Amino acid sequence: MKVQGELTLPGEELAVIEEFIAGDGTYELNGIVRAAVIGKIFYDMLNRKSNVLGIKKIIFQSLKKAKYVVGIINTVKEDIAQVSVVGIEEKSVAPPISAYLHISQITNKKLNSITEAVRVGDIIRAKPLSYTFPLALTIKMKDLGVIYAKCSRCGYLLMKQDENNLKCQRCGNIEQRKIGVYMVRKSGS
Ligand SMILES: [Zn+2]
Repeated sequence: MKVQGELTLPGEELAVIEEFIAGDGTYELNGIVRAAVIGKIFYDMLNRKSNVLGIKKIIFQSLKKAKYVVGIINTVKEDIAQVSVVGIEEKSVAPPISAYLHISQITNKKLNSITEAVRVGDIIRAKPLSYTFPLALTIKMKDLGVIYAKCSRCGYLLMKQDENNLKCQRCGNIEQRKIGVYMVRKSGS
């Protein structure tokens, strides 16, 4: 037997059937239960089953518990931004989870274009709306939105100017965003 919660690879021996029968994510061959997928071992003591929770299931579980996820805006097309989720709260996720943000999930205010709220390359703090892939995201709540962005004119880091605007400290360009807990602030503010 291995340790409960340990990471396992396909083919690794988990138990003999006299101890635990094969459950989810496992298979049995010649009386030995082995992992069928990469994941975490879960010995179900009550039903005497060995299970392996696949990576997808682990991600799914941590997403459900997460207060927020962190994503990068990849493309913006019409009313939808494609997002790569690279973090679940403080934990990084590799490979990234594909997600999207619809214009209706940004703010209750009227937006003429999604680019008034997010732009390609922005890093956002968002919340999943559903747990199917690709993930549907929302940034409607107060703390959610852009947390890091660069100037579209010169590429320098933008700083928070006020509730709706970011300002480039190099060229003075002011850009509108749906701002979350922004990470870069003017010194002294
Ligand atoms: Zn600039």
